[in-house]
Parts: sequence; structure tokens; C-alpha cells
Amino acid sequence: MSRSPRFASAQAAMYTGLAMSCLFCKIVEGSIPSTAVYQDDRVYAFSDINPKAPVHVLVVPREHISSLHDTDREHRALLGHLLGTVAEIARQKGLGKGYRVVVNIGEDGGQTVDHLHLHLLAGRPMTWPPG
Ligand code: 5GP
Ligand code: ZN
Repeated sequence: MSRSPRFASAQAAMYTGLAMSCLFCKIVEGSIPSTAVYQDDRVYAFSDINPKAPVHVLVVPREHISSLHDTDREHRALLGHLLGTVAEIARQKGLGKGYRVVVNIGEDGGQTVDHLHLHLLAGRPMTWPPG
């Protein structure tokens, strides 16, 4: 997808160090294609390539943050924005029947991509407890 020029300089500044080898940084930057669902100056949301439900959207910060575990007080506004974005997408998609938000953290948490992301899953009944 094409990227808005207003994000270009901020993305260039973020695209350093660890982020250069990060899959989701490359998706945010646009060098790896994705299907956009929502975007603004702080977050990007796109369809999961291997969906685990009829609706499976990933919401990520544009800034490279490895995991929820690596956030601090300075990230709290961003974390709230990420969660609020999930709700906004769910409303836009008419998911009033229900959905699940998942954040996998670290090895035992099942995190496979080391760039903080929220999963929005919907379109089928969810089971509990998760695996
Ligand atoms: P995790 O297991 O880290 O919580 O979630 C990573 C998610 O990223 C998985 O659901 C996986 O399907 C998705 N994913 C991995 N590689 C790609 C990719 O190249 N593009 C997209 N859109 N999703 C990906
Ligand atoms: Zn990254």
C-alpha cells in the first residue's frame, strides 16, 4: 500500500537499530506489503496474514517497542491509544456481538514477532481458557 508523506520523516527516525530487522517495522514502513485496516500518526492496523478467526487484525505502534514488557510510564498514552484503536476498528466493523483482544508477551506468552501488537479476533465464538 502507499504511505502518506506526513509519516515519512518520523518513520525514518524510528527505522534504526533493532527496528531495521523487525518484520512489523517493515510492514509499518511499507517495504513489506500488508492490507491496511486503520492508520494514524501513532499506530497502524493491518490484516493478519494467517488469520485465526474470520476477523483477525493486528494493531501496532509505529514506534518499535519489542513487547508490552518493555514499556514504561512514558508509553501509557500510546498503550491507551492502541487499545482504543482496537475498539474503534471493532465498531467500524460492526462487531457488537463480541470479540477478543489478545497481547502475547514473550516466549511463554506465545509472542512470535518482537514488535508490540494487539490481536483483534472476531467472527466466531471464542473459547476459554486460551491454550
Ligand atoms: P504473535 O504470535 O507474535 O502474538 O503474533 C504474530 C502474528 O503476526 C501472527 O498471528 C502471524 O500470523 C502474524 N504475521 C506473521 N508474519 C506476518 C506478515 O508478514 N504479515 C502479516 N500481515 N501478519 C504476519
Ligand atoms: Zn519493530
